[in-house]
Amino acid sequence: MWLAFLRVGGRHIGAIAALVLFPPTWPLLTLLLVSYLIRIWAMEAVYHRYFAHAAYRAGRLMQFLLALIGTQCGQRGPLWWAATHRTHHRFADTEQDPHTPVYKGFWHAHARWLTDASQLNTDLDVVADYARYPELRWLNKYYWVPLYLMVPALWLAGDAGWFGSSINGWSALLWGGYLPTTLALHMTSLVNSIGHMPQIPGGYRRYPNLKDRSVNRPLLALLMLGAGWHNNHHRYGAAARAGFAWYEIDVVYWSLLAMEKLGLLSHVKGTIPRAILQEGGIGRARPRLESAPAEVR
Ligand SMILES: [Zn+2]
Ligand SMILES: [Zn+2]
Repeated sequence: MWLAFLRVGGRHIGAIAALVLFPPTWPLLTLLLVSYLIRIWAMEAVYHRYFAHAAYRAGRLMQFLLALIGTQCGQRGPLWWAATHRTHHRFADTEQDPHTPVYKGFWHAHARWLTDASQLNTDLDVVADYARYPELRWLNKYYWVPLYLMVPALWLAGDAGWFGSSINGWSALLWGGYLPTTLALHMTSLVNSIGHMPQIPGGYRRYPNLKDRSVNRPLLALLMLGAGWHNNHHRYGAAARAGFAWYEIDVVYWSLLAMEKLGLLSHVKGTIPRAILQEGGIGRARPRLESAPAEVR
């Protein structure tokens, strides 16, 4: 538990040091943005849609490469993430949900649950479909190896001038590593906290009859490449897309389609059953919400 606390604490100190030691410049902001987007993609496309929901398929080598990219989101190992998230869906907003804000409040859902000793082990039975691969079990245990390899890698790249002459080793490490990883963690945590708090303005429930309290949040979706369409996702989490209406922009889904076209992935599940679209008011018929089945996914 203390190790988890130290890691998360160290990351925040690095993020603050980035802002204090190196005032923002356009090259630093560009490095931050690119690094942040890679980490959010790693979380949403790999840990969430692939490992937690198996919403597309990948060959064994590609699966491992995806898992390696996934570790760069800085949210522990792929099997741990997927097992925790599957438990979240199964028990969404009940007392068995590992990070519901309903019973223990915002801070528990946002951050405190991460340091809860009971949440540190991976329940491999919940992710048996992926836990049968020994390389994934290894990476799940040693996720910090590729994650912390970025420390010397970013420093050396910055020192060698790869990010431009105005960025050195330390500013590359802090602005390209610690700050975006901290931001990506908080953004993911916001889905767990305010993504389940409809009482906070700025969102809507396309599926108001769902038993859980998930919310679609357009701003989160925009900043997280589609991960903010959380009410849609709780209604039909089997899909590789979370934006159901044409205006619910889902960059991760588009990127998966592009990777499928390139032959890197297959079976990207993009179809939402018509009945679910109509229940959400998309398509021909308006939903009859009072008679729609309340289903927790
Ligand atoms: Zn949720
Ligand atoms: Zn999910």
